[in-house]
Amino acid sequence: MVRGWPVRHTRRVSVSVEIVEPVVAWFDGAARDLPWRRPECSPWGVLVSEFMLQQTPVSRVLEPWRRWLERWPVPAALAAEPAGEAIRAWGRLGYPRRAMRLHAAAVAITERHDGQVPPDHQQLLDLPGVGTYTAAAIASFAFGQRHVVLDTNVRRVLGRVLDGSALPGPAPTRGEYARAQALLPEEPERAARWAAASMELGALVCTARKPDCSQCPVIDVCAWRKSGSPDNAAPRRGQRYDGTDRQCRGAILRVLRESEEPVSAAQIDLAWPEPVQRERALQSLIADGLVVATSLEYRLP
Ligand code: SF4
Repeated sequence: MVRGWPVRHTRRVSVSVEIVEPVVAWFDGAARDLPWRRPECSPWGVLVSEFMLQQTPVSRVLEPWRRWLERWPVPAALAAEPAGEAIRAWGRLGYPRRAMRLHAAAVAITERHDGQVPPDHQQLLDLPGVGTYTAAAIASFAFGQRHVVLDTNVRRVLGRVLDGSALPGPAPTRGEYARAQALLPEEPERAARWAAASMELGALVCTARKPDCSQCPVIDVCAWRKSGSPDNAAPRRGQRYDGTDRQCRGAILRVLRESEEPVSAAQIDLAWPEPVQRERALQSLIADGLVVATSLEYRLP
């Protein structure tokens, strides 16, 4: 007999019964009806949603996602237009480099994969702008595969239930991946369902600031709850926005987005009052490829 196997097997069954099954059952009744979750949504629609949701909440993504898919229903449609159109359509979703990367991904899908989002995990990882999380999410949500999908919401839920920690650290550790892997149901469709369910639990119930434990399907096994919900998270720096270079970049980009023509330096000057910061932000936009400078004017790429 292989020593330890029966214990691990028992633990796996118990974790499945205590955590995975209740969370998936809760999801069956509580899942939001999001357009990228519907059966008719294409893998391209799922990919676009994952790019948009990387740093933006669902409520702000719904309308831009709908317009994006209406205008560019397949990757080749987006790839046929200049990257500047993607930046323009990105609007106020924030972190506009994602628009550039999404455009680059559409070009790569068109050129390398005959216009179809590839189901292969490694081929997804090879696309511009697709990292570990995004590749796993697309493979799981668009193609029903079995992958560890570890976003902040899932990390927070697992950290609370299993470790009793209030909030996860800044980046996932190997230990977190190994634990999430051990929790993953064997059957791919079930694994994909668990990925979506655990993410939804973190988004709707086990929120960062005010978890609604009375609605939680795993309240009875939650280590953090059992230990009195201690505030044991490392202090975090708040994300200030007002007055930052990020805000300044957004103001400059808005001028360019709202103009069909290239704009003059004088028009850029009106976007932000502080000249040193304005110039720094403008140069960083040019360096990122989000703005193209000609001798007298500026335009989207
Ligand atoms: Fe989160 Fe509360 Fe559920 Fe624990 S009991 S997982 S803290 S919502």
